[in-house]
Amino acid sequence: MKPYLPILPFLAKYPFLKLAGKFLEFEYGNLDSILKSNDDLVLSAKELGIKIVKSVLEGKICPEIEALKDLNEPFLCEECGVKGCRYKAEDELDRFRFCDYPLHQSEIYYKKLKLAKRIVVAYIFSKIAVSNLNEALRHKFAVREARRYREMLEKESVSFLRVVARDFGIRAKVVDGSFKVDVVDYLKGAVKIKAEEWKLVNRRLEDGFVFLSRREFVRLLEEYLRERLGERIGIKMDLGVRFEAKFEEIDVKDLGIKAECYPPCMKKILSDLRNGLNVPHSARFAIASFLLNIGMSVEDVVEIFRTAPDFDEEKTRYQVEHIAGQRGKGQEYICPSCETMKSYGNCYADDKCSKINHPIQYYLRCVKRKNSKT
Ligand code: SF4
Repeated sequence: MKPYLPILPFLAKYPFLKLAGKFLEFEYGNLDSILKSNDDLVLSAKELGIKIVKSVLEGKICPEIEALKDLNEPFLCEECGVKGCRYKAEDELDRFRFCDYPLHQSEIYYKKLKLAKRIVVAYIFSKIAVSNLNEALRHKFAVREARRYREMLEKESVSFLRVVARDFGIRAKVVDGSFKVDVVDYLKGAVKIKAEEWKLVNRRLEDGFVFLSRREFVRLLEEYLRERLGERIGIKMDLGVRFEAKFEEIDVKDLGIKAECYPPCMKKILSDLRNGLNVPHSARFAIASFLLNIGMSVEDVVEIFRTAPDFDEEKTRYQVEHIAGQRGKGQEYICPSCETMKSYGNCYADDKCSKINHPIQYYLRCVKRKNSKT
């Protein structure tokens, strides 16, 4: 038997899975024995866990974690023909524990096992470190990490995405490449996404299931994930590090997308695009750079242009990636100032615009106002 074999590379890439907890329990017995262990693997994983949190708060990814995104191992269950696999076990995720996949070189198995153990234990320590942070920093950490995981999940197979959904308790089916998500589970994640197309009235709903494209499904997972990553766990442990003083500053990208706080100029451009009007180049640049600056993904920005009368997906993606700094000199463009917006006839100032000189400033003030009321 090779317990957890099909999922080991995925536990290393996605240690937030509850399944990782089951795996650790199997390997170490209980959490206490990990926390008190002087084992070399545990000690170095502890160091890595702290490094992960520090890097994320600095807006970086530590190299060992960055390298995991290239770990493109197949999901063995997709090709497995082993009779007697407990695929139909009551808890579907339990089946990994009884894996008997015919892998003939045991050193491959032990290599995968060692990596999974290291990263999952590092995740536990990073979780303890995050639990000790104040709310703003926990939010910052969760938003950044959820975004990173979403980018990796976008490249995973449908079978694995179903494992992730199940781990979050999301009831989902896959029909002809589209996902159908139980409406209650859909709403739990979608209520936190402000864009119009996520409102239930704008979705196809049949027999209690909401239809989502693969990309939208992964976006929904990101919301669940953000919640999980920002949760506190009830373990008090002094890891000998303090993050607060150094990382207090909040980045606009970490505030989440709050459509109700878009300035009037951006609302006007968005409404023109939605109505299929031909929006001038200066306004297209302004809305794309604005949305990217506040943290929207390239994919979501490309979708916004879909209703433009001359929409060309390839061209749009190229331009949006360029503005995001993923092409050319690798530098992200900043949204134009109010003065530039005015000079191009793209300004639609309201009374809240009187003391601001940049659309991002308008957005930040609005989000801060709203956050201070909650
Ligand atoms: S003043 Fe600035 S933020 Fe307000 S509508 Fe004009 S360009 Fe937009």
